[in-house]
Order: sequence, then structure tokens, then C-alpha cells
Amino acid sequence: MSEVRTDKALSMLSANPKQTALLLDVDGTLAPIVNNPVDASVPIEVRTTLIELGRRFGLVACISGRQADEARRIVGAGGLTYIGGHGSERLLPGATEPEVDNALAPWSERVNAVAAAAARDLSALGIRREDKGAVAALHYRGVADEDQAAEALELVAARASADGLAIHWGRKVLELRPPVPFNKGIAVTELIEGGSFETVLYAGDDRTDLDSFDALDSLLESGKLKQVLKLGVLSSEAPPEIGRASDLVVTGTDGVAEFLGRLLAVSDK
Ligand SMILES: [Mg+2]
Repeated sequence: MSEVRTDKALSMLSANPKQTALLLDVDGTLAPIVNNPVDASVPIEVRTTLIELGRRFGLVACISGRQADEARRIVGAGGLTYIGGHGSERLLPGATEPEVDNALAPWSERVNAVAAAAARDLSALGIRREDKGAVAALHYRGVADEDQAAEALELVAARASADGLAIHWGRKVLELRPPVPFNKGIAVTELIEGGSFETVLYAGDDRTDLDSFDALDSLLESGKLKQVLKLGVLSSEAPPEIGRASDLVVTGTDGVAEFLGRLLAVSDK
């Protein structure tokens, strides 16, 4: 990390904290990557720093591919904002239930209804349903007869697409999705356009964070924002585009923790 550029970045972000938003990816940025995703958690010192930054800055939001309440459990700070399901849902400070994105809400009910019916009809085949915000997944890995399960899911997919839903086949999984685009970048744009921010930091380590970087560039170009800082988190697993698209890079979740600690130290109460 270049010291001069880091100092400049810190003074840019701390100059006007109430008009500054800090947007942070969770896994690989705040929470170290672990073998079993359910074991992920944000170290206590980082959690404390985030809570204090939340009191000083206009907005501190954690942005995750996981469901918003799962992201909040991992970060462990109830007073922050959480964007989950790759931008499909938002959990506000202190709220008990996430809000589904307006454009997605009517579709998300349909997605869930189709997935629930399929899981019920196909339970004898061992097909498992997983809710992921606006997306529902039907898994058939490891069931007694995978070919038979895949065949049954072909019918579900045909019915879902006749019903207007988008379908996506992954590895031994059928995903049912709203036909409306959503990603972290779209969610970041909505979040920033809904507030009065001049400066935004976004920190991320993965491909899905590049949509957020693009969103910040567009908000800067349109004049909605005055300054942005795209902080790339490098690791052996990070795609090389992250480094190329960033204004500044740090190494791993420790690098992010150090950066946020320094930001807190230079920010007024
Ligand atoms: Mg990540």
C-alpha cells in the first residue's frame, strides 16, 4: 500500500464524514474467507471500528451476496445498513425484516411460490430448496437418482419460464430468479441516489464488486458524487480485474481492518 496515496485517501474520506458513505463487501473484505461459509465472522476489533464509524459517517453499509440478515449476523453490528442477496434486499439499522427491492418484490413472491410448490411435489426425489433473497435454488446434488431429479426439474424450469421467471442452471442446482436485473452496483446506485452524499468509499475483493465500482464511476460522471474511492482487496483468490479497477489496494481482510482503523483515527467525533 502506497503511504502517500493512502494518506490522501484517508483525508479525502474523513474531510466531511456526514456526507460520506462507506460501502463494504463482507466475505473476503471484512470477514476472512473460511472453509465452511457458515463459520465466517468479522473479528471483534473490526466490528468495534465499524460501529464507531457508523456513528461518525453519513452511512456505513455492508453489501453481500448472502442474505441480508446472514450478513448482519456475520458482521455483528445491528446499527449498520445491510444490502443482501446480491443487491436484492436491504436491512435497515435495527430492522427485524429485510425489504425486498421495489422492482423485485412482485417477482420474489412468484419465485417463492413456484419454488415452494416444486420442493413439495418433488420432496420424494430428495430435492432441497434454498431461499437466497429474491432467488430460490432447487438442489439435487447427492440425491438417490440425480438423472430423475434433473428431469423433474426440467419440467419445473419450463413451467417457471412460461410464468415469466428467469431460470439459471448451476452445478446440480436449478435457480429461479426474477426477470429483472439486480446486482450490487444497481443496489449501490439506489442507496447513494436516495441520500445526500458527496464522497463514497467502496471496498471489495471479488467480481461481483466490479459492478459497484462501475456504479461509482457513473455516479461520479453524472455529477451525483464529487469523489469516490474504489478500494481493492487483494488475495491469492482475488480476480486480477479487482486490482486494475481500484484506486487503491490493500492486502486481505487485515489490510482492510488497518485501513478502517486509520480512517477512524483521523475522523472527528
Ligand atoms: Mg467478497
